Amino acid sequence: MNIDSLIPENIKHLKPYVAGKTIAEVMEAYKPIRISKLASNENRMGFSPAAADAIAEASKYIQDYPDPVSQKLRKKLAELHAVSDREVMITAGSESMISVICRTFFKTNEYAVTADATFVGFYVQAGVRGVEVKRVPITQGYKFDVDGIIDATKQGAKLVYIANPNNPTGTYIPKADYAKLIDGIPEDVLIIADEAYYEYAGEIEDYPKAMDYRRDNVIILRTFSKAYGLAGLRVGYGIAHPDLITQMAKTRLTFEPTTLAQAVAFAALDDSEFIKKSVERVAEGREQLYRFFNEHGVKYVKSISNSVLMICDDEESAIRFTQNMLEQGVILRRTQAFGLPNCIRITIGKEEDMQHFEQSFLNIAEEIYS
Ligand SMILES: *Cc1c(COP(=O)(O)O)cnc(C)c1O
Repeated sequence: MNIDSLIPENIKHLKPYVAGKTIAEVMEAYKPIRISKLASNENRMGFSPAAADAIAEASKYIQDYPDPVSQKLRKKLAELHAVSDREVMITAGSESMISVICRTFFKTNEYAVTADATFVGFYVQAGVRGVEVKRVPITQGYKFDVDGIIDATKQGAKLVYIANPNNPTGTYIPKADYAKLIDGIPEDVLIIADEAYYEYAGEIEDYPKAMDYRRDNVIILRTFSKAYGLAGLRVGYGIAHPDLITQMAKTRLTFEPTTLAQAVAFAALDDSEFIKKSVERVAEGREQLYRFFNEHGVKYVKSISNSVLMICDDEESAIRFTQNMLEQGVILRRTQAFGLPNCIRITIGKEEDMQHFEQSFLNIAEEIYS
C-alpha cells in the first residue's frame, strides 16, 4: 500500500510538534544538580491549593461523561465578564478553541492573516484546515506591524489572529494601535483576540483589554494554562457573539473539557490571591533577568507576559546556548518554529529557577563569548 498517497498535501507539509525533553530525561542524560523547566510558559509557582478539594469532589463522578456545555463554569465566567452565558464557550485549552474556529468558519480558498512571529498553535491549526496564512513581518522592535496587518486583510481575508500580549515575544499592541487595528479590519473579517497572558498584562496602563474593544466579529480567547497554572488539565474559553458561539458549538468535540478540568477551573477562579502572587513574582523575575542581561551585554526583548525573549547573534549560537543550558538542567525553548531562529524564550520561574538560570549562564559564559 502506498501510504503517502493517502495523505493530503496540507498535512504532509505540517511539521510534527517536537516535545522538549522531559524532566526525567534531562535528569537521566546530564545528572544536573537541579532542573528548572523554563520552556513552556507554565506557572512555576504551581496552581491554587483550591484544586485539591475540587479534584477530590469531582473524581466521584468520573464514570459519567462531563457536562458537554460546562454549564457551571460557563455561568461563572459569564458573570465574571458581564456577558450572557450564550456568549461563552469552553474547550480543552484555548488551542482547541483555535481549532474549532478554523473548523467552523473557513470555506475553500479563504485565507488568514497574522504576524510572522506569533503562536505556533495558530499556524498549525490553520494548516490542518488547509488555510493559507499570510504572515506579516514584525517590526525591528519585535512588535506587530499594525498597518501591515490591516493592509494584509484588504484582499479578502477571512480571519485575523492577534495574540496580545504576543507569544513568544512578550510584546504588546498598545491601546491606540489596538483601536486602530480593530477599526481598520473590515467587519466581515473575524478577529481572534488571544489573551492567553491577560492576567500578567491586565494592570498595565496602556494594555488594551479586548473586552473593551468588542465587535460582532471579535472572538476573545482566554486560558487556564498560564497564570492559573492548570496547563495539564486543558481548559480555555472563548467569548464571542452568541451567533458565532452557536455555530462553533456544532463543531467542537462534545465532551471537552473533562469533569476534573471543569471543576478545578471553577474553583481556581475564586483564588485571586494566587493569581496576584504569581503575577507579582513574574514581574519581579522579569526585572531581575533584565538587570542580569544588561550586566552581561545580552540582547533581549522587553515583555509584559511570563517569558522573555533572548536574542542571540545567530541560529548557531541559539542552538548551542540552549543545549549548554540543558546540560546544566535549565530547559529553555528555542523559537525557530515561531519564525525566530536566533532567539530563545525563557519562562520566568521562581527565584530558585532564575538563580539556577543565572548560575548556569555564568558557568557557560566563556563558551558563548569565545
Ligand atoms: C499557551 C498559549 C495558548 C494555548 O493555551 P492552551 O493551553 O491551549 O489553553 C494559546 N495562545 C497563546 C498565545 C499561548 O501562548
